[in-house]
Amino acid sequence: MERNKIKRFFAVLIVLILVLFLVSGCISNTQGQHDKSFFAMDTVMTFRVYGDRSAKKAMNKAIDRIKEIESHMSSTHKDSDVVKINKAAGVEPVKVHDDTFYVIKKAVEYGKLSNGALDITIRPIVELWGITSDKPRVPSQEEIEEKLALVDYNKVVLDEDKKTVFLENEGMGIDLGAIAKGFAADEAVRILREAGVESALLNLGGNVITIGSNPDGRPWRIGIQDPRTEETGQPHFTIVGVTDATVVSSGDYERYIEEVYEKTGERYHHIFDPRTGYPAQAGLIACTIITSSSIDADALSTILFVMGREEGLKLIEGLDNIEGIAVTTDKEIYTTEGLKASLIPSNDNYRIVD
Ligand code: ADP
Ligand code: MG
Repeated sequence: MERNKIKRFFAVLIVLILVLFLVSGCISNTQGQHDKSFFAMDTVMTFRVYGDRSAKKAMNKAIDRIKEIESHMSSTHKDSDVVKINKAAGVEPVKVHDDTFYVIKKAVEYGKLSNGALDITIRPIVELWGITSDKPRVPSQEEIEEKLALVDYNKVVLDEDKKTVFLENEGMGIDLGAIAKGFAADEAVRILREAGVESALLNLGGNVITIGSNPDGRPWRIGIQDPRTEETGQPHFTIVGVTDATVVSSGDYERYIEEVYEKTGERYHHIFDPRTGYPAQAGLIACTIITSSSIDADALSTILFVMGREEGLKLIEGLDNIEGIAVTTDKEIYTTEGLKASLIPSNDNYRIVD
């Protein structure tokens, strides 16, 4: 009798353990929300991914991929492709990683399309102003002219077979700050999709990219940052609803020389006009691109900001499935035709112009 009791006790125990296993397995396989914030590419990135444990794994893989891209494309990381290319300017071609080659090739294509509004050889100007360093300053006209002579995307020589990049003149340098985050966003999305993720919202320091829709089936609602939030007290100037899209913004509010701004009200920001060597002043304080590919959106948002409303929106209007928003210094909002009906006003300080 005693033995039977013990046997029964163990049988029940085993069944209980099995049930526990099954239940915990089910729980971890149901749709969960996975969030992560981290610092990469000089900015804070926030990921929200929906799915089971494999989605969480894919999220970590995507983050590792972003760090890998950063290690190739950073202008400061020791041994990055970009640092090597810049060191070898005027001396010899440098063999680079496929990713770096792809991004530089894209950037040069956008350089041509925009007639040099996007020019990755802007590095000597970026360094002169020290805008991404902790000691920014307003340089003299003479200094600007000297460095400007080194800026020319036509002098980036690419060898597709050898995967080499060569800058023709000594002193030249490239900076992928205007486009690398877009590439990183596309890669993160590719990894998540390949792992079966159907719903995600990634924010790479203001470059937003989404997979599918919100888990409740509605489009993701993306608030676009108010470029004058300190004046208006509002976080966004409009909200857009998107599925499977990227929303990338550029503006004079992201990075500027604060000491000079506080003294004079003049905003020397981080997006340069490659024709003048000064921060771009084409009448805009912010702009946004909405499309499917984030590398395209990143390039085009910088281009729109440098070109300004008329020329910039005209260029975007001529491209397929790409929408743009331009916010002027007068706080007027202009958009491409495709967005006209759908823009939701969310802030009285701005006026949407039809
Ligand atoms: P953010 O990096 O804030 O999202 P952008 O995508 O517009 O903004 O990129 C700005 C960065 O690109 C600058 O910090 C600088 O490194 C670089 N840059 C500035 N002006 C240009 C330009 N005209 N063409 C190419 N790169 C630029
Ligand atoms: Mg950009």
